[in-house]
Amino acid sequence: VSFSSEDVFAKIKEENIKFLDLQFTGLTGRFHHTTISTNMFTPKQMKDGLPKLDGSSILGFTSIDDSDLILKPDPSTFAVIPWYEENKTARLLCDVYWGAGRGRLSRDPRGIAQGAEEWVKTAGFDYSAWGPEVEFFVFDKAHWDVLTPYKGQSYSIESVEAPWSQEGTGYPMGLQEGYYPSTPSDTLTPFRNECVNVLSENFGILCDNHHHEVATAGQCEIDIKYDYLTNSADATQSYKFVIRNIAKRFGKIATMMPKPISMDSGSGMHTNVSLWKDDENVFFEEGQDGELSQVGRYFCGGILDHANALCAISNPTTNSYHRLVPGYEAPVYVAWSGSNRSAIVRIPRHFEGRDYAHLKRLEFRAPDPSANPYLVFSSVLAAGIDGVKKKTDPGDQVKEDIFKMTKEERRKHGIGVLPASLGEALLELESDRIFLKPIFKDEVIDKIIELERKDQRDIAVRPHPHEFYLYFDV
Ligand code: GLN
Ligand code: MG
Ligand code: MG
Ligand code: MG
Repeated sequence: VSFSSEDVFAKIKEENIKFLDLQFTGLTGRFHHTTISTNMFTPKQMKDGLPKLDGSSILGFTSIDDSDLILKPDPSTFAVIPWYEENKTARLLCDVYWGAGRGRLSRDPRGIAQGAEEWVKTAGFDYSAWGPEVEFFVFDKAHWDVLTPYKGQSYSIESVEAPWSQEGTGYPMGLQEGYYPSTPSDTLTPFRNECVNVLSENFGILCDNHHHEVATAGQCEIDIKYDYLTNSADATQSYKFVIRNIAKRFGKIATMMPKPISMDSGSGMHTNVSLWKDDENVFFEEGQDGELSQVGRYFCGGILDHANALCAISNPTTNSYHRLVPGYEAPVYVAWSGSNRSAIVRIPRHFEGRDYAHLKRLEFRAPDPSANPYLVFSSVLAAGIDGVKKKTDPGDQVKEDIFKMTKEERRKHGIGVLPASLGEALLELESDRIFLKPIFKDEVIDKIIELERKDQRDIAVRPHPHEFYLYFDV
């Protein structure tokens, strides 16, 4: 379903909607809203936008001396938010503009994504399709209480490293033992069913499958259908919004933090991408290795070429790098493969032949859900198209488990290593950022680097609790 402005006003009347949440995404991926009363809302406002935003208070948007912004609602994103029992409320995603006719805010992530979709047409393709596999943790309130006393003061290693199990189930689950258990071990099935209902019925986001993930009790994945770039990033933001809110209603807390539990699997946001022209998936070619076309190979080459710089966008938090370590199905090395999960790019091979051409895709496994999906998809597109333009060969696919290779063997195969920390990733982006130029203004990249640098330094100046275990000699 896609709504016109008229449809939205009709719906407001029909369904007696009292409030509208105007939602938008900040540069770091944080989701925001302001609420307006529908009895004051006019078609003219829908068209011209609402002067309702102080850009200086949104991380990364504007400085304090020039901060009047406009929120322009996108009627096609209309959705009724089902969990307000009184005061029926719907939402609209918004585009962010400068006031006084000064055009689009170049740091509006949604605008960057829309720009990327226009740009891919100039590269000779019609559109790209994106399917993120978002993983996340659901914690019981009791678990949260264990974590919150740690504010750099009190902390116990046991509390964070012990196997976590759902409160009161009596079905313990160890670290990395959570993949596909049936009920009653998987206590989160009703929660995920409810998320899927709300996503499809209210937000028009189709989910084909959901399951418990590999980590101990609480890690989930719900997969949504692939879509155009901006639509898919919109859907990812709506997805996180729904999951957090439904979790709250179940008395739980959902987190997109990539690695909340040490020694256990982290949460990824594997990003599946394909490129289309004349309604044909140009990544598919019969008879090729893995049925991957030459364009697909070059696109893969571009991602591998820029993987280290991409990490600063696809893995933008200090916590992201606790996930990118060997042993947890998260990528560490820069290589591509068919079904080998230790590679950073995978070409999934379930079915073959022309009937399945539409499903041929690259799966980029580095991103995690702490990233801003608008920026992830846009930057991965920039890297891939750069590879297509430069005819970057990705080399041979790696069939062996890279985690088991020696340094020597990795060198022989030409396999690089991902940045080990946010600090390293930022250095990589600083020295490899030209490929982003067609989509990201320079000042936007500068801002992204500045904001992440701040987090990186904030963490770097604080002694880690584990350092007390290692070095605090009594
Ligand atoms: N959780 C893993 C990651 O961090 C992926 C596990 C899986 O989907 N098989 O990427
Ligand atoms: Mg998956
Ligand atoms: Mg998964
Ligand atoms: Mg996957």
